[in-house]
Amino acid sequence: MQQNINLDDMGVQVQRININRGALTIKLRSKEEEGDNKFRQAVANNLGEQGTVETARKKKTLIVRRIDIINTEEDIKSAIQEITKTTSFEIKLLVDKRRRYKRTAIVTLAEAPALEMLTSGQIKIGWTSCKVMELLTPPKCYRCYDFGHFADKCVNTDHMKTKCIRCCEEGHRAVECQNLPNCYQCDKEGHTAGTMACPAYKKMVEDIRKEQKQP
Ligand SMILES: [Zn+2]
Ligand SMILES: [Zn+2]
Ligand SMILES: [Zn+2]
Repeated sequence: MQQNINLDDMGVQVQRININRGALTIKLRSKEEEGDNKFRQAVANNLGEQGTVETARKKKTLIVRRIDIINTEEDIKSAIQEITKTTSFEIKLLVDKRRRYKRTAIVTLAEAPALEMLTSGQIKIGWTSCKVMELLTPPKCYRCYDFGHFADKCVNTDHMKTKCIRCCEEGHRAVECQNLPNCYQCDKEGHTAGTMACPAYKKMVEDIRKEQKQP
C-alpha cells in the first residue's frame, strides 16, 4: 500500500500507525482537510474495512497585534494564507482599545500552520509587520478566582462563593455592585480578580511562555 499512495501528492503527513488484530489505524497530522479525505479514500481502496484513518488536528489560537485599520479582513486572510499555505483558519477581528487606528486579529488554526506563523513571530500585512503570539490561557479557579489551578484542586480558604466577584465584598452580587472593581489578590482597586487586567494573570502567561521556551 505504501507504494500505491503518495503522501506528498496529497500533502499528508503520517503521525503514527497502529496494527491491532490485522486492522490498521493510521493517524494523520497534516495541514489540509482535503488531503486527509483523499488519503482516507486511497486507504479504503487499498484495504477496505481493514484500515482506519484518524486525524489528529490539534488547534492553536494566535494573536496578531497592531494591524493597520486600513487593511481589510481579506488582506489579513491572504497574508495568513501566504505564510501557512492553508485556507482553513478562523479569524476574529477586535478593535485595539488603546490605539483606535489598529486592530487585533484572533486566529484559530491547526497546529502545524500555527507553528509556521509563530516561528518568525511576525507577519507582514499591508505595509506593516505585525507581531504574532500564541494566545495562552492559564487555568482559572472558579472558587477563589485565582489563576494556576482549577476549582477541584483549590486549597484557598478565602473563596468567592458568598462574595461579589467585582469588588470582593460580602452581601451583594456583582450585577448590583456599586463599588469600584477591587482585586483581592492584588489588594488593589481598578480591576476585578480573575480577569486579564490582573497582574497575576499577566505573570502567569509570562511563566507559561518561559516554560515553553525551555527544551
Ligand atoms: Zn482556587
Ligand atoms: Zn461588589
Ligand atoms: Zn489583581
